[in-house]
Amino acid sequence: MTETPDLDLLREALSTSTLSHALKLIGDRWTMQILMGAFTGVQRFDDFQTRLNIPRRTLSERLKALVQMDMLRPRLYQERPERYAYHLTRKGMAIYEATLMTWDWEHRYGENRLALPTRLIHKTCGHAFLPQMTCEACKEPVTLRDLTLSLKPNPHLPHDSGEPMRTPKVTVGDGALSHLALRMDRWSLMIVSAAILGCRHFDQIAHVLRISPPLLSRRLAALVEAGLLSVEPDREDRRRRVYLLTPSSRALFPYIALLSTWASEHLFHEPSSIRPRHKACGKAFVPRATCGHCHQRLQAWDVTFEIGEAA
Ligand SMILES: [Zn+2]
Ligand SMILES: [Zn+2]
Repeated sequence: MTETPDLDLLREALSTSTLSHALKLIGDRWTMQILMGAFTGVQRFDDFQTRLNIPRRTLSERLKALVQMDMLRPRLYQERPERYAYHLTRKGMAIYEATLMTWDWEHRYGENRLALPTRLIHKTCGHAFLPQMTCEACKEPVTLRDLTLSLKPNPHLPHDSGEPMRTPKVTVGDGALSHLALRMDRWSLMIVSAAILGCRHFDQIAHVLRISPPLLSRRLAALVEAGLLSVEPDREDRRRRVYLLTPSSRALFPYIALLSTWASEHLFHEPSSIRPRHKACGKAFVPRATCGHCHQRLQAWDVTFEIGEAA
């Protein structure tokens, strides 16, 4: 989408997208880190705490939320004092493909590799691999450029209430963790999604995301600082500036697409309001994460990992 988007339609589609809802539920850095931990075998509260270096209260809240969403199931393993281990449920297991994409992204673009496995090995083929996003219909690897995106607001999906998102204030220069927070939090991913759908100007992004101008200013400055957007003067009107995707924000697309698909299939059982189509095969695009070596679809139980030294 390079032509000027229909901003009202885009606003409607984004606010009813499965992506927006999924990010609201799990789109903070800690929740994704906890899930990543769970996929690498962490189960006990204290182990999550040590591995992720997460404040105890935050950990306890996030685990509780994941249990309420039926993504983790607590199991008592010690009675006095009471201690629980957390196991992934089917719904939790199903988010594995999206989680793999955050792993891949962090390895390519992140500085903070704490708590991440250094290598993934596909037991099915026996090789170390990088995950790839492929088209379910034709099995070919796909990037953003291979798709056309159309908007069809789904009336069965709830409207985003538009309430202010409670995300921790991120300031540039808070170190590696804030960079991780910045890239993976809900606002950043929604701003990147708006850019993917054709928004290039400040006022366009502010309109479609219903974000206050001062907050959007801060967010855009931080995204530019982190290399996720570039900014340049508009060639048609030098007084305005355009915000453009960069290779690192384009590379967030597999995560965005797989998270959105997970929410469609496992939370809402409804198609999202954003409908991608694979240009090459002409089919509606359903993303799957496949092994870069043998091209089979990846399942959590078919993957082992090596945890090297934390960077
Ligand atoms: Zn295809
Ligand atoms: Zn393989």
